[in-house]
Amino acid sequence: MQENFYTGSCLCGGIQYEIHGDIGEIVQCHCQRCRKANGAAYAVNAPIRKADFKLIQGEHLFKKFQSTETTQRCFCGACGSPIISIKAETPDFYRLRIGTLDTPLAQKPAMHIFAASKAEWDDICDHLPQYAERPSA
Ligand SMILES: [Zn+2]
Ligand SMILES: [Zn+2]
Repeated sequence: MQENFYTGSCLCGGIQYEIHGDIGEIVQCHCQRCRKANGAAYAVNAPIRKADFKLIQGEHLFKKFQSTETTQRCFCGACGSPIISIKAETPDFYRLRIGTLDTPLAQKPAMHIFAASKAEWDDICDHLPQYAERPSA
């Protein structure tokens, strides 16, 4: 069986990464921290296995910001693209910012999370399920 393979990069191209494995359920996260970190109405994130993620270029640009006590947000220090976040609660997974993928992705977003904190100017116009916070697994 052939494993899934994806590549991605930041806006300036300084960071290049590969994912050798599956991309999990895609969520649109409307929490205020994701909005700030992305300068957007929401972030579009999906879990990937830590072991599947390979930084192939730009390690010196790969910066980490401690966003909360348990969450680190990793981004390109040159262009600011958010790449992944790391949560202490789920040490075997990263949360990929799927907008940085270069490989076409067949999956579609599955849900909106932290919809209770969405921007007041943003209307959610699709029929995906909305959760006030993160649904418990
Ligand atoms: Zn960059
Ligand atoms: Zn969020």
